[in-house]
Amino acid sequence: MIYFKSMSYQVLYRKYRPQTFSEVLGQERIVATLQGALLQKRVGHAYLLCGPRGTGKTTIARLVAKALNCQSPKINEKEKIFEPCNNCISCDAINKGSDLDLIEIDAASNRGIDEIRQLKEVIRFSPANSRFKVFIIDEVHMLTLPAFNALLKTLEEPPAHAIFILATTDPEKIPPTILSRVQRFNFKKLPQVTIFNKLKEISKEEKINIEDGALDILAQAADGCMRDGQSLLTQFILSGDLHISEEDAMSVLGRVSFVRLEEFFDLVAQKNLAGIFKFLEKEEGEGMNLIGFLQASIFYWRYILLSHIDEKLLLQDGHLTQEQIKKISEQKKLISKDEAFKGVEEFSSALVSAKNSPLPRIPLELAILKVIE
Ligand SMILES: [Zn+2]
Repeated sequence: MIYFKSMSYQVLYRKYRPQTFSEVLGQERIVATLQGALLQKRVGHAYLLCGPRGTGKTTIARLVAKALNCQSPKINEKEKIFEPCNNCISCDAINKGSDLDLIEIDAASNRGIDEIRQLKEVIRFSPANSRFKVFIIDEVHMLTLPAFNALLKTLEEPPAHAIFILATTDPEKIPPTILSRVQRFNFKKLPQVTIFNKLKEISKEEKINIEDGALDILAQAADGCMRDGQSLLTQFILSGDLHISEEDAMSVLGRVSFVRLEEFFDLVAQKNLAGIFKFLEKEEGEGMNLIGFLQASIFYWRYILLSHIDEKLLLQDGHLTQEQIKKISEQKKLISKDEAFKGVEEFSSALVSAKNSPLPRIPLELAILKVIE
């Protein structure tokens, strides 16, 4: 029975893929520009979506296709909203992946001139059921040069019904002739807080019992990629644990949760050396990865330093929740700017030594002693 239950979790990423522009996270400016173009009926013939993997490029490409061909889009001129209805035949076909007028090509496995020639044949035909035929070419940088040249000719004289959305993780490899024909959007890695909140929402929805500390570690490990965050969550669920604790996440991913860091830096703020040494002994005994701890601590020192310079910098950083920022502001009162500066320096050199040491705890302890004199 558990087996069948867990099977359904494999579709987390697909299940929670945004179906409207308003559900897209972290790419507000791109979404606003595209909605503006849709409202003004000025959608271009070719777009290039650049950016790291898992940041929403193909999701947004599909949303554009859906919005373009939707039979009754939700339009609000004043609020600058243009959303697909997700109800009409066209939206339905795209949501089911069966739309004949949305053609998705993976350039990594269709790299050559022959494929592009075939594509050109398809492009000539009018859409089957809709106003536009939308071509999404993913990982477009993988195309061969002859294929790029063939594509260029199409982009130079596109049929009125054809819209091209090219996506890539590596825009440097795209010929300038192509770049000059497209409107380009640069996608950013998603802030850690955004991933944390989304994973929390999914966990609630799926009735998964997972501690905030564990979600925090998953969001860190996702490194700006929502898809990675969701697949990590899926892996933990599939492992069959009914309760996912902070310790589970720490031991699997070799990372340190923010809660532990806060605890450690409370002791640092109090200059409680005995407490610090006891903390490290306990954590190491429970299997904490000291290298991971050192890395995370360097960031924490940096946060304290930033908050001394200007608290707004912590918000801009995009990795911290409001509560975490509040905590750092409190600790800052007891940790001077000079100490934070020294902390970054000493922990950075301790990290180098620890990586080459059979006893990584020694350089860490020395660094602490140097900062707290
Ligand atoms: Zn629709």
